[in-house]
Amino acid sequence: MEENKMYYKGKPKYQLTPKTSDWMHELFNEQSVVKGLVERYGSPINVHHLPSFNNNCELYKQVFESYGLKYRIFYARKANKSRGLVKQAFASGIGVDTASFKELEQSLALGGNSENLVLTAAIKTEPQIELAIKNGVPIILDNQDECVLTQAIANRIGLKAIVGFRISGFTVDQEKLYSRFGFDVDEVVNFIASYVGDNKSFDMLDVTGLHFHLDGYSTYQRSVSLVTSIQIFSKLKEKGYSMSFIDIGGGILMNYLEDEKEWNTFNEQLKNSVLEDSNDITFNNNGLGFRLEDGHLRGKLNTYPFFNAINKESFIREVLDFMDAQSGLSVASLLVKNGVELRIEPGRSLLDQVGMTVAKVIHRKKDAKGQWLVGLEMNMSQMMSSSADFLLDPFMLYNSEVEKNENVDVFFTGAYCLERDVLLKRKITFPRLPAIGEYVAFVNTAGYMMHFFETEAHLFELSSNLMFTGSNEKLSFFQFIDDAKIALEQ
Ligand SMILES: *Cc1c(COP(=O)(O)O)cnc(C)c1O
Repeated sequence: MEENKMYYKGKPKYQLTPKTSDWMHELFNEQSVVKGLVERYGSPINVHHLPSFNNNCELYKQVFESYGLKYRIFYARKANKSRGLVKQAFASGIGVDTASFKELEQSLALGGNSENLVLTAAIKTEPQIELAIKNGVPIILDNQDECVLTQAIANRIGLKAIVGFRISGFTVDQEKLYSRFGFDVDEVVNFIASYVGDNKSFDMLDVTGLHFHLDGYSTYQRSVSLVTSIQIFSKLKEKGYSMSFIDIGGGILMNYLEDEKEWNTFNEQLKNSVLEDSNDITFNNNGLGFRLEDGHLRGKLNTYPFFNAINKESFIREVLDFMDAQSGLSVASLLVKNGVELRIEPGRSLLDQVGMTVAKVIHRKKDAKGQWLVGLEMNMSQMMSSSADFLLDPFMLYNSEVEKNENVDVFFTGAYCLERDVLLKRKITFPRLPAIGEYVAFVNTAGYMMHFFETEAHLFELSSNLMFTGSNEKLSFFQFIDDAKIALEQ
């Protein structure tokens, strides 16, 4: 065992060591502060470190500046509902991508305006569109019905709507990428030319840009789609539309893990254990997407790809450095040459290293299989994504030094009355059994894990969100601001 200390990373059979930041360890080392926060705000708490968010904003800015590009960055706030991050986005000089009436309304009340907001909601209601038009916020249009509605509202209130057109159906390697969103790339120029502009059906729509957001994480598909978008952009410009931007949405990969080898080993071992029907890695044999069928391994790992060598700024570089064979120019050069302002809407990747969820241990028990189950005061919806599991080793904060390593295997269980409320599907090994009242920390949870699927079943309170400004002084309870108390302007 390492030197005697008060906190330990869990060490399952196949470790997945998360990337962590100094602020997280600072907090682990000041358990009186953690205790104060959990006692005050209730378990679990979500802690957000604002300087880390600012760092991510700076990384993206630097990449674009190194290419001499015109750019704008919008933080996709659907990835985390906290107000404090919206305020920090504005303070860091970036904008916010809003996707509902309330996201837009609240972002306006937190300092948003026509320059730093965009509305990309999948379903756009009349109040949303009206609010956007009145505030000059660009609306990303998805279909003809939205054009009709936006035109009608703009007419009624006598203000033009600034709009971008969402496009999809790019052809990459002879195959058309399907999406339920947007106008088809092959039809959008005709559509706009026929219906949008003075003396046409949609004369209250002022088109200024194009938008796409691709499913998945391919930089190659993004490069090819960007090249096609630039061609559409110039055609529309030639037709007299005042085009200024192309927005490539989000889906920029981030990296959660320290070690690629650990990731590969885990993947191999999970497959082996499912194939050999000897899965002692996860709760009740959960294959996390893999299954055994007639002796064959089927399925695939149904989680986010937690390790990524190419991520954040290098991901953007890969998109921009792609050489377009037809023009012999890179995507970046094509953007500059055509005077395009490149926009991105990262959600998850701007939240890298920003958040952490801490919950309190309530009970320990052995189930009928002799496995230790450690009950936490939180539920599955408070750390949930579309992934089959959150594949990061958690940290155990002990209230006294651990004397000897007992190698105890545990599963963390939650408060919902469902058999499947098991917070991490992997079996985690700790030096000793967690005691009642001790804390478990799950790191890097700010992107989607905290809020996207959080529900109030059983009438449990929603978790509290705390904004931590960081400081050079000794940590204290008072450096953590309750997000619910952040004021909205009227
Ligand atoms: C979800 C979404 C984003 C953010 O995606 P991330 O994967 O979190 O970066 C950005 N733009 C649109 C249109 C989206 O739907």
